[in-house]
Amino acid sequence: MTALSDLPVAIIGAGPFGLSIAAHLRSRGMPFRIFGRPMHRWRTQMPAGMFLKSEWDASSLSDPAGRYTLQKFCAEAGLPCENGPIPLDTFTRYATSFQRRLVPIVEDVMVTSLDRRPDGFELRLANGERVRAKRVVIATGLSHAQYILQELPAELRSHSSARHDLSQFKHRRGATSSVGWIRSRNVGRRRAGAGQVRKSD
Ligand SMILES: Cc1cc2nc3c(=O)[nH]c(=O)nc-3n(C[C@H](O)[C@H](O)[C@H](O)COP(=O)(O)OP(=O)(O)OC[C@H]3O[C@@H](n4cnc5c(N)ncnc54)[C@H](O)[C@@H]3O)c2cc1C
Repeated sequence: MTALSDLPVAIIGAGPFGLSIAAHLRSRGMPFRIFGRPMHRWRTQMPAGMFLKSEWDASSLSDPAGRYTLQKFCAEAGLPCENGPIPLDTFTRYATSFQRRLVPIVEDVMVTSLDRRPDGFELRLANGERVRAKRVVIATGLSHAQYILQELPAELRSHSSARHDLSQFKHRRGATSSVGWIRSRNVGRRRAGAGQVRKSD
């Protein structure tokens, strides 16, 4: 077990926010550990073929020097830059590259529980390790969105971030709830897949 005084910060989740926070802590020399499978949600669960809703200048992860931007990655990789919507694959590759360059110390293990202790927190990891930390950053994003609307049967509700393959809605009727650009775009994609969709806000 890591002694409490040894670990000022633990970060749960290695998505865009967890990685950005880790990059800042690392640049300041702050000891920390970060747990989770890097960009797991984006790599495995976002709707395939999706384009980002955010624009080029609002889609970079935050690094302390502000140098490793999405545009820089695309220029280095020879990918189209600032031309049309950002493909999911481009963003996921960029964020994975960001992780390897700026946060190579991600520990690919899930946190299974988090408990408050008198002088901090105790985390349990899926590999059986227990870690004590003074502060904990919870950067788990939408991972646990299934708890929203949980009064509905599980087979009747899901979040768009858990629907990698929208073709399963073909010839089925459904409703979407939420607002904004991404909802409209995904509704359009479901329509393209021949499902019938009702919107509600
Ligand atoms: C369909 C869709 C499209 C979107 N498009 C955009 C867009 O274009 N632009 C934009 O800015 N935002 C977009 N978003 C919002 C996007 O989800 C957030 O901006 C971004 O992913 C938030 O990053 P995050 O690190 O907080 O969460 P996430 O990306 O969800 O990452 C959280 C990570 O935590 C991990 N995790 C969860 N529980 C644990 C645990 N117990 N232990 C260890 N790890 C754990 C997960 O595996 C996951 O990898 C979109 C969301 C959806 C659903």
